[in-house]
Amino acid sequence: MITPVLPTYARAPLSFVEGEGPWLKTEDGTRYLDMGAGIAVASLGHAHPRLVEALETQARRLWHTSNLYEIPNQTRLAEMLIESSFADTVFFTNSGTEATEAAVKMARKYHSVKETGRFEIITFNGSFHGRTLGMISAAGAEKLTKGFGPLLPGFVHVDYGDDAALHAAINERTAAIMVEPVQGEGGIVPIPDEALRALRTLCDEQGILLIYDEIQCGMGRTGKLFAHEWSGATPDIMAVAKGIGGGFPLGACLATEEAASGMVAGTHGTTYGGNPLACAVGCAVMEVMGEDGFLENVSRVAGHMRQGLDSLVARYPDVFELVRGSGLMIGVKCVVPNMDVVNAGYDHKLLTVPGGDNVIRILPPLNITTDDVDEALRRLEGAAADISGRAA
Ligand SMILES: *Cc1c(COP(=O)(O)O)cnc(C)c1O
Repeated sequence: MITPVLPTYARAPLSFVEGEGPWLKTEDGTRYLDMGAGIAVASLGHAHPRLVEALETQARRLWHTSNLYEIPNQTRLAEMLIESSFADTVFFTNSGTEATEAAVKMARKYHSVKETGRFEIITFNGSFHGRTLGMISAAGAEKLTKGFGPLLPGFVHVDYGDDAALHAAINERTAAIMVEPVQGEGGIVPIPDEALRALRTLCDEQGILLIYDEIQCGMGRTGKLFAHEWSGATPDIMAVAKGIGGGFPLGACLATEEAASGMVAGTHGTTYGGNPLACAVGCAVMEVMGEDGFLENVSRVAGHMRQGLDSLVARYPDVFELVRGSGLMIGVKCVVPNMDVVNAGYDHKLLTVPGGDNVIRILPPLNITTDDVDEALRRLEGAAADISGRAA
């Protein structure tokens, strides 16, 4: 029988009524330690006082006017993003997939205006760019596209790391290459810094735009504001979302002036994107992340987490295979089915997120303390011990 809410999600039988920092509470008061942060979204934890204050203040003044008019919070957030990135301009959206859509539209428009004849976008197998028809066509995986055809043409998929295939895919139609600097849904697969730099060089040589999808790996997650900063290879266009709103729906497409040159008045738009509430929260997120020591602390806590996880993997080789990732974007590849570990985690009141390639994803709030990390490690060890059938 159909459920009131369309049954497209395989939901855990859990629901939460309250949150504080990395903790979530159910109706009966049971506390869960949240190492998923709503899939890398609650980047500053739940109910962060600065974000609550920003939202409440704006909510009392004005909710919505539309993009028919100037939105001061939007301009301010754009300026903050530009100040701390490669970008010269920003388009705001409500979600990640709208940000990658905007990125692809921008790349095609650029080449159209320049009359280069280029329109194809190269993407990588195992990537995830969202759920619109355009973005499932972009990622191409059958589990996203099956039954939804015909798909949007103009995407070419290559295996990540297969340079011969990549070079073979490039031709006079190639408009852009789109890549996640750290693949998220695909199972937390970081692209090596040299590989990103090589993509940048290739794009420059061939007149191709480079698009990063930093929707999951951006906004401080890896210990830099944007993941690609570790490599020094900047994109022409970049999609961000998830962590930028700290839980309030917000996304953005950042670009250089050159890459954005085709996007003149009337070419693109959204009713809600960048509305006053979302941008008030976005500004507060940027302010907190811009404070001295915030990103250094992400790296420090991530080092502590990583050490603990490496040790856990070594002690439970029948449960875990390896740890990989960058900063507080961590994947633990499992030997047993990853959902067994996620479910055993629930028994220990620990929330983790399943991902591709049989990983569990650990994506905690970025301001988590080492004490909470230690608690998470104890709970994950409890889950591993249950699965391996021995005492922790
Ligand atoms: C989550 C995600 C998206 C899609 O974002 P939505 O807000 O769900 O539309 C796109 N790309 C990446 C890398 C993501 O992690």
